[in-house]
Amino acid sequence: MNRRLWAVMLSVIVVAFTAFGACAAATDVVVVGSGAAGLAAALEARQNGAEVIILEKMPFTGGTTRVAGGGLCAAGVDLQLKYGITEDSPEVHAADMLKLGQYRNDPELVRTVAYNAKHAVDWIRANGLELEDEVVSYMSTHPRIYWCKGRGFGLAEGLAKACREAGVTVELETRAVKLVKEDNAIVGVVAKKANGDEVVYEAKKGVVLATGGFGENQDLFKEYAPELTGIRTNNPQGVSTGDGVLMGRAIGAKLVDMELGRIVPMGVAIGQGAWTSAPAGLLAEGGVMVNKKGQPFLKDEQDRDLAVAILAQPDHTGYLVFDGAVLQKVGEGSLDRIKGGGALVEGSLEAVAAKFGVDAGALQGTANKADLKAPYYAIAIEPYIHSTTGGLAINTLAQVLDEKDDVIPGLFAAGEVTGGIQGADQKNALIDCLVFGRIAGRNAAQGH
Ligand SMILES: Cc1cc2nc3c(=O)[nH]c(=O)nc-3n(C[C@H](O)[C@H](O)[C@H](O)COP(=O)(O)OP(=O)(O)OC[C@H]3O[C@@H](n4cnc5c(N)ncnc54)[C@H](O)[C@@H]3O)c2cc1C
Repeated sequence: MNRRLWAVMLSVIVVAFTAFGACAAATDVVVVGSGAAGLAAALEARQNGAEVIILEKMPFTGGTTRVAGGGLCAAGVDLQLKYGITEDSPEVHAADMLKLGQYRNDPELVRTVAYNAKHAVDWIRANGLELEDEVVSYMSTHPRIYWCKGRGFGLAEGLAKACREAGVTVELETRAVKLVKEDNAIVGVVAKKANGDEVVYEAKKGVVLATGGFGENQDLFKEYAPELTGIRTNNPQGVSTGDGVLMGRAIGAKLVDMELGRIVPMGVAIGQGAWTSAPAGLLAEGGVMVNKKGQPFLKDEQDRDLAVAILAQPDHTGYLVFDGAVLQKVGEGSLDRIKGGGALVEGSLEAVAAKFGVDAGALQGTANKADLKAPYYAIAIEPYIHSTTGGLAINTLAQVLDEKDDVIPGLFAAGEVTGGIQGADQKNALIDCLVFGRIAGRNAAQGH
């Protein structure tokens, strides 16, 4: 059955909804979510001639993107050439992405990101966003990270402004709750307004899911990565609830890599947000992780296992104890991002024990064994999830796939709601959002 007939049928559904008190709206493309992926999809769809409505459940746009570092990875951007980096290429970028993802990512999707990355960076600049005048390296063969002016906040605000100026409608406090499916095609979205009213949004050409990750959804962790149950996230509260994954799964979409994500095992337990490598450095230089009994409990676990070992402790928390000699090796400045939130104690072991409720006698024995000397320091450590990298399965056209790897007509997805692109890491997340957001928006606008 063709889309025109479905449009007629949807109108009937819409009339039925209206009769029961739900409002209705119609547009070409409905984008769910207004982070980097959703905003890129909306702007690209609009620039390809579509009428676009963004549905955003929060009272503001930007999602996790607002708090991100704003680093965009791409090979071949003019800033690289300006700073004499001429050896890089999309192929080297793709190879780095695969390595970072521990080869758990899909090479075709990875290449799609790497080969379109420069164009995405040029595109945001053409739409009024600016980059800092530098290019940096972080676990990549060549320096290829550019910072958006204003970091993640600048990226989110800049894209939102470009969307509004292009005529995209943004509906805040509007939570998508269900995809409308007719004979295998997605033809709309049911959403809930803050006052509880339901609205049916008809999408004449396509729906783009760009709802971000599921770092805050404990049920999904229980189901797909039970050993991480109880893990917290540093994403903004209320954003990363996994709605897109759940809505997609409900209509038969395939999920991939749901057990993967970027986990920070040595997170600072009190206070949210800022990521710091200091605890990992302090542990490596001779600090000791103890539990409430004052006993060391780590062996030589790496990342995920390290997180699992800490999560197994009471309150999902361990206490990293070290002394001045260890601190000197890492540098006093390393504590700057930890001070002030209540997670750091400096002084006697009694003070450490009293603050964190650790057995003082056993702690003294552990410190003696590790040859730690006063003054002592301790940081409360709790693992957290920085981003989830599993989600909806898509193809290189950003079309969502079902369990048989067939395309679900009318449904596209981009950004952290998708799986298969980052594998076991996330350092290319924002560029992935921009590249696949644009692809999703363009294809949705064309009604593919
Ligand atoms: C502290 C931090 C720093 C980071 N720094 C970097 C970096 O420098 N470089 C990099 O590449 N990556 C970075 N990342 C990762 C990156 O920021 C995220 O992966 C990316 O922002 C995700 O974008 P998104 O558009 O997919 O989702 P989001 O930006 O989270 O947007 C999703 C939006 O969808 C909305 N939404 C969800 N469900 C619904 C629903 N049912 N109805 C309506 N709206 C809904 C949410 O409210 C949200 O606004 C960082 C992450 C963190 C936490």
